[in-house]
Amino acid sequence: MKRIYLDHNATTSLDPEVLKAMMPYLTGEFGNASSIYECGRMAQKAVVEAREKVARLIGAQSDELFFTSGGTEADNWALKGAAEALRDKGNHIITTVIEHHAVLHTCEYLEEQGFEVTYLPVDEYGLVDPAAVEQAITDQTIIVSVMYANNEIGTIEPVEEIGKIVKEKGILYHIDAVQAVGKIPVDVNAIGVDLLSMSAHKLYGPKGVGALYIRKGVKINNLLHGGAQERNQRAGTENVAGIVGFGKAAELSCDNLIETAERLTRLGDRLAKGITEKMDHVRFNGYPLHRLPGHVNVSIEFVEGEALVMSLDMQGISVSSGSACAAGSADPSHVLLAIGLPHEIAHGSLRMTLGKDSTEADVDEVLTILPRIVEKLRAMSPLYQ
Ligand SMILES: *Cc1c(COP(=O)(O)O)cnc(C)c1O
Repeated sequence: MKRIYLDHNATTSLDPEVLKAMMPYLTGEFGNASSIYECGRMAQKAVVEAREKVARLIGAQSDELFFTSGGTEADNWALKGAAEALRDKGNHIITTVIEHHAVLHTCEYLEEQGFEVTYLPVDEYGLVDPAAVEQAITDQTIIVSVMYANNEIGTIEPVEEIGKIVKEKGILYHIDAVQAVGKIPVDVNAIGVDLLSMSAHKLYGPKGVGALYIRKGVKINNLLHGGAQERNQRAGTENVAGIVGFGKAAELSCDNLIETAERLTRLGDRLAKGITEKMDHVRFNGYPLHRLPGHVNVSIEFVEGEALVMSLDMQGISVSSGSACAAGSADPSHVLLAIGLPHEIAHGSLRMTLGKDSTEADVDEVLTILPRIVEKLRAMSPLYQ
């Protein structure tokens, strides 16, 4: 059975060209990038080139990029490193209720360390109000952290507008851009962001590698202590193959960014339109105007999201309910609750995220199978008349 993969926000497949670029560094070119002999120098050169490619994707200079073990580490480093470095200036952090757990749980940890955190609410579309950011700022505020685009509902936040407010007050600005980088144009200078987190496996690169952008002149404490790698700021032998793969993935997404985004937007619209036509009692979640391309999050009343995911899986279709990180927990997604969905509706939500290999035929197949499954499940529901 040909499987249809519609969970690109959870992770993406490794692009064959990325694998090809990585292979030498998993085999013959196994040198440590810190070693000064031939194969060490080759590894070092490969890391330098990858850094330039990732930097180009976000309009940064390559010496502002530091490789990490992924988006989670980048978020942890940004927040803990900045909070510790600025402790003398203040103890207040502002973030939002819809952040990824890599940010939320780090903020909760920082609260245990004596910091105060304001979690800003969002509106029904998942949008953060820049005026609310401004109002939340006190003379103790040291960091504002807002995600670029939400992983569950796809809403793109007004990061530039928020940036203007935050920079005017001279506060450090962090953005979790893991879902945005590679999907929509991201320019660190247009936003004026100080710290920005990225992850390779969300853009057809390998898992276990990411990066933190740190604006020149911004000083944060180190998260990992050890060797002198990453210019003394992130210890640990470089994941050379992973970094090379990240570089290649960045280059590929740079090349096709706009075309792919437009195609995925059209495909996503086709999927949403089909769902509206074929099913009743559905509502779409996320901001209709500015949403990640090919992102469909829909609540289907009188069914359980988990049951839908499992039934679709048996038909060869991979989607998620809520977020992959929340899978296995019975609580509805914190994001869906934050946009005001009642528990029972949040429970019946599906996230379908298209990717560069998704086709019209995939979408149409889902539009054939999904309504049948919904009908069957609803027939068993005592609530559905
Ligand atoms: C996936 C994701 C992360 C975590 O990145 P990893 O590389 O998987 O650790 C962080 N933030 C957002 C918004 C994500 O979607």
